Amino acid sequence: MESTKTGPATAQRTAPADNAPPEVMPALVKHHAGEGLRLDEARPVPALGPLDVLIRVTKAGICGTDRHIWQWDDWAASRIPVGIVTGHEFVGVVERIGSAVTLFSPGRRVSAEGHITAGTDYNSRTGAAHIARDTQILGVDRDGCFARYVAVPESNVWPVHEEIPDRIAATFDPLGNAVHTVTAAGVSGRSVLISGVGIIGLMAVTVARAAGASRIYCTDINPPRLELAKKLGAVEAFDAREGDAWIKHVRSETRGEGVDVLLEMSGSSNAFDEGFRALRNGGTAALLGLPAKPVTFDFNTNIIFKGCTVLGINGRRIWETWYRMEEMLLGKRLQLDEIITHEFPLAQYDKAFETMISGEGIKVLMNVD
Ligand code: ZN
Repeated sequence: MESTKTGPATAQRTAPADNAPPEVMPALVKHHAGEGLRLDEARPVPALGPLDVLIRVTKAGICGTDRHIWQWDDWAASRIPVGIVTGHEFVGVVERIGSAVTLFSPGRRVSAEGHITAGTDYNSRTGAAHIARDTQILGVDRDGCFARYVAVPESNVWPVHEEIPDRIAATFDPLGNAVHTVTAAGVSGRSVLISGVGIIGLMAVTVARAAGASRIYCTDINPPRLELAKKLGAVEAFDAREGDAWIKHVRSETRGEGVDVLLEMSGSSNAFDEGFRALRNGGTAALLGLPAKPVTFDFNTNIIFKGCTVLGINGRRIWETWYRMEEMLLGKRLQLDEIITHEFPLAQYDKAFETMISGEGIKVLMNVD
């Protein structure tokens, strides 16, 4: 802050500073190496580099990643620096810009790609920055968006179309995962199996439908979510706890061949095995779900003799996925209302996390402003 010493000339010069954001802000911090997060009311507002944009966060979404960080499982303990501000899914308004920023000005409604890279490695320079070697993830490797303000490089900021409401824009990150998976696999005029209908799996149902999938089948172990998957466009949804007879059924529905496309969204080893068994020879499998530990898998039957194509899906293609997602939203092709179930003020973060972790809520948002 500039000096507030008196004198008419000084007072005038310091006037803009009065409108500047305060030096401290509320932020949800991973305060210790254990369960939970803490709301820090006096976290310093992030400093801005010349190419950074300071965004005042309006709404932020709680992701499965945040649940791992909250619960402090092995992955979180090995990856998350204690003291970090968590959160990576958000929408907000540009508050201030660094001295060299040219694309955005204060007042612009924006979201951001949370995978940040220096832009200098092989993949960043050849159109695949989503798998850059030096990727830093917002709220995982650097301070995130569960705070009044977040700083993001200009090159990661996405302008939100005026027709897209905040509650949708706050979910661009997971919705982009679904759009990336569906578009990478190519589902138009094809039968699709989605294994795992959590947040992203459910989003994938509505995205696959919008992208022209002919018939969508789903598996999960959560009956209400299987019902919702049907409402969103799945022709049949199977409870994977009731054995694997569904595979035979799906094969018989698909000329005895199996589905054309598998979208794996669960990370369950059982789902890997059953999903590939339900996939036809020469089909395409796009894998997004993360197994908690290494899995045993029959490569011979499921991949090699099957001659299928396996795609690993990470993040969102920058910016191709974002443009396609925006097109689907502007075309009113996606049904997201029943997936985004709850909103809480940031101060009720513990209730928000509880609602998400218990499974009562699907996509849970926090209102930060
Ligand atoms: Zn996320």
